[in-house]
Amino acid sequence: MLIILIFAFNIYPNPHKRRVSHMENINELKAQLSMPKEIVILSHRNPDGDAIGSSLGLYWFLKNQGHKVQVIFPSEYPAFVSWMPDADQIAICDLDKEFAFRCIRNAQMIFCLDFNALDRIDPMEDEVNESKAYKVMIDHHMYPEGFADFMLSKTDCSSTCELIYEFADMLGKSNLVDGKIADCLFTGIITDTGSFKYNIHPSTMRVAAALLERGANNDFIQEEIFNSMREKELRLLGHCLYNRMEIIEELETGIIWLTKDDFEKFDIQRGDTEGVVNFILKLKKVKIAAFIKEQPTIIKLSLRSKGDFSVQQVATKYFKGGGHKNASGGYFYGTLKSCIERFKKGVKSQLELEKTTS
Ligand code: 5GP
Ligand code: MN
Repeated sequence: MLIILIFAFNIYPNPHKRRVSHMENINELKAQLSMPKEIVILSHRNPDGDAIGSSLGLYWFLKNQGHKVQVIFPSEYPAFVSWMPDADQIAICDLDKEFAFRCIRNAQMIFCLDFNALDRIDPMEDEVNESKAYKVMIDHHMYPEGFADFMLSKTDCSSTCELIYEFADMLGKSNLVDGKIADCLFTGIITDTGSFKYNIHPSTMRVAAALLERGANNDFIQEEIFNSMREKELRLLGHCLYNRMEIIEELETGIIWLTKDDFEKFDIQRGDTEGVVNFILKLKKVKIAAFIKEQPTIIKLSLRSKGDFSVQQVATKYFKGGGHKNASGGYFYGTLKSCIERFKKGVKSQLELEKTTS
């Protein structure tokens, strides 16, 4: 099992190398948390269920122990998670940059959750780099940057929410995970695993069981996350599948794209296209899927795969992105047509590369 739990002065040049776990370092972190602190929790742009669940789960865990905690996201969160306790207390950097920067400058500790590269927090990157606060990274993406003082990075783990429970356990305080925290953490596990369909490890089920024992309300969360679509979203899904899907059989690849005009015509809001990419993988003949959105200034890609093919490599090499082997994302500046061509080219060369190295 790949566990990275390490101080930043342990510089590791080879990101593929298995790293040593320094469990004794937990004592320094415990000392940091032994007095009430001003704490900022950050997660990535376009926060998903795992980003929000882990941030609010940790927020309540720390707040209940007397810390002053502020969660900040670079951009707004989707409506399907607005039921989460204190979601309305989250600060959005896009909406109030000054407040976000001030919080980071005043913070004594900064937790970075569900991301491992500072360019994922856009304008807050410089503030975090300059801050003297004690920095903690808790994340499950590949190839972490080494900016944190304390790092819990585990790539063979379902979600950051699963790691937050482990983190509480490492501190000897999993007993403080109450029903409210359990709901937050359970949400990230089910959104990052498609409700226990993929990216499942024995530890995932153990943590999920512990969260249910601590009061997570599975029925409520499943309804809020998966059965709360508005009619226009379901009709948009129909449009995507009927008018905007291309299957490239020789590459075992499917693409769905949306144009700027589609965004206007369907009045697409944040979160309305969540999960669309997964429908492509329902086809038996498809192993690789892309959902490509033409936004006002940027084109955003969501990539997924089944089995060994690494969309993480395609995202990193061709779209300045990253993520996991089977779920990654990236972005592109240019026309939609050239983006689609670049994606096909990227898949083709990655398939050839994987053939020669297998
Ligand atoms: P999604 O397609 O759901 O937006 O993202 C899938 C995975 O890829 C998530 O783990 C997400 O954090 C990661 N990801 C999405 N977009 C980017 C990006 O632009 N850069 C990087 N490094 N990771 C991304
Ligand atoms: Mn995640």
